[in-house]
Amino acid sequence: MDYPDRFDVIVIGGGHAGTEAALASARMGCQTLLLTHNIETLGQMSCNPAIGGIGKSHLVKEIDALGGAMALATDRGGIQFRVLNARKGPAVRATRAQADRVRYKAAIRGMLEQQPNLTLFQQAAGDLIVDGDSVRGVVTETGIRFHAESVVLCTGTFLGGVIHIGLDRSRGGRAGDPPSNALAERLRALPFNVARLKTGTPPRLDAKSVDFSQLEEQPGDSPTPVMSYLGERGMHPRQVSCHIAHTNARTHEIILANLDRSPMYSGVIEGVGPRYCPSIEDKVHRFADKASHQVFVEPEGLDTHELYPNGISTSLPFDVQLQVVRSIKGLENAHVTRPGYAIEYDFFDPRDLKHSLETKFIHNLFFAGQINGTTGYEEAGAQGLLAGLNAARRAKGLDSWSPRRDEAYLGVLVDDLITMGTQEPYRMFTSRAEYRLLLREDNADLRLTEIGRDLGLVDDDRWTAFCAKREAVEREQARLKASWVQPGTAAGDAIADKTGQPLAHEYSLLDLLKRPELEYRDLASLPGIEGQPVDDDAVAEQVQIQAKYQGYIARQQHEIDKLKRHEATPLPAELDFEQVEGLSHEIRQKLSAARPETLAQAGRIAGVTPAAVSILLVHLKKRR
Ligand code: FAD
Repeated sequence: MDYPDRFDVIVIGGGHAGTEAALASARMGCQTLLLTHNIETLGQMSCNPAIGGIGKSHLVKEIDALGGAMALATDRGGIQFRVLNARKGPAVRATRAQADRVRYKAAIRGMLEQQPNLTLFQQAAGDLIVDGDSVRGVVTETGIRFHAESVVLCTGTFLGGVIHIGLDRSRGGRAGDPPSNALAERLRALPFNVARLKTGTPPRLDAKSVDFSQLEEQPGDSPTPVMSYLGERGMHPRQVSCHIAHTNARTHEIILANLDRSPMYSGVIEGVGPRYCPSIEDKVHRFADKASHQVFVEPEGLDTHELYPNGISTSLPFDVQLQVVRSIKGLENAHVTRPGYAIEYDFFDPRDLKHSLETKFIHNLFFAGQINGTTGYEEAGAQGLLAGLNAARRAKGLDSWSPRRDEAYLGVLVDDLITMGTQEPYRMFTSRAEYRLLLREDNADLRLTEIGRDLGLVDDDRWTAFCAKREAVEREQARLKASWVQPGTAAGDAIADKTGQPLAHEYSLLDLLKRPELEYRDLASLPGIEGQPVDDDAVAEQVQIQAKYQGYIARQQHEIDKLKRHEATPLPAELDFEQVEGLSHEIRQKLSAARPETLAQAGRIAGVTPAAVSILLVHLKKRR
């Protein structure tokens, strides 16, 4: 048969993990096959059409910094952009975009189709070719065989997927798509630890039947933020508003009266759902004292009237869903275009993975995305990129690479998963990262693009743009450091006016920028100062953040360096972990059971966090 059936890397599944995996592998020069159920659903958003948000935008920007697709697709498909926590510190600031799901998908497909070394093929993978303890390829459900050095599995919610609407169940990978049962069975026969999780989605509404005058309008930010480091103002499609509605006592009554018809409460669903993205029945049940919950009424796209009511994900029967929707002010006459549902699916214990996302049991087989117990497009995309790049490195005979916890949220995500596993769908939060000040969304490129370039992930255009930005930041920092403002000069008086205090002595502009009352733009156009201020917002932002937070950033870096220096520090055999103040009960138990000999060993125990290692170090110092 004259057909390309040998590849360096095969990726199964064209969702968010699979597309980033395939693109990464192909960018690195590996002949890559992306095998997916349906080419029309490449990059499909199974649930809400939105990318980013707290913790998640950090991952999107890291994917972008490493040359991935998600941020650029968001810029091409985004119809409302906001920076969340804009008034808080830069560590927790997060960009969120409402996406037009059709435009987003088209952008992803466009990038896949234009990517050299990448072949798309529409077929369901039904089997893996396994030789001893190594994977050698894939067989489709119709029997077509493909061989490869490494295989990345990104099958999302499809493995053994069961859809629930009330007490009705049907098999499916998500609404309208078939489940992946043959592959699920094959994987269950391999030595992996399998369990079930569940997630859900709300009913969709027809905007023509919604009374927007009763809802609160939420426009996007102006000027419109961009998601990608290569994003430019003006590249977004037309921008629109989202709206906010509220559940009320009547909504909650309806839900509580029908809980026995919910598959979750009647015990039909065994899988655990996402704690941080709960269904409306979960919220009403768990937070019984709360009189109302917000519902963000979000457009699904520019060319459709469908709306996504974010906040009322449910698996209640359709008649109850309808009552719930219509009990909400502004939605009294709403037409439901698609019922909400919950889906249960197989996931594999991520503790059976290495940092590279290769499985421990089958060599050259990598897992990424929802299959590892995570939830969210961003978490999936980030893992996909990592698995894809490591599958490519394996095919080339190179060692794996994965970022450390102090380098990237991707490092935190993978380390959390493979050391602690997860009992519920795992999503990213800034609070999961102990080095938040270093891992900001504004500096993912400065943290990762050079590494990405070395890995072969970053193309010339991105590299040139990155180098230009980095040089511009350094040049401007040098100018500010060398520019002095004297008291009694026009510039000094302007500063005094702004701060309400005369300058005590001469200051460099860089020192002045550290003051909380002064912004980069205040210092940019002072009279009598040499040199032109930068007009690139991203450069100005970087100069400002680095100046203002320099002290904190240096302290965090010092802490990381200190922990690294002390990794070889021995833990005395007689050390009683129960007596170490500040450690959680769980960590004490883990340490007592494992009895690590050094701090480094302690840090590698599943669930022992870097913060706990820091506490151990302080304790050891006190004992001396
Ligand atoms: P998916 O996006 O599921 O993609 C899997 C891909 O693999 C699909 O293209 C599929 O066709 C393909 N595939 C599967 N099996 C095979 C096979 N055998 N052969 C070939 N191709 C195959 N996330 C949130 O953050 N919040 C939420 O509230 C939320 N709710 C959700 C509700 C529902 C009903 C669903 C279905 C998902 C929800 N998600 C939610 C999860 C979000 O959709 C996923 O986290 C994300 O899509 C995972 O990306 P992925 O690439 O791992 O898998």
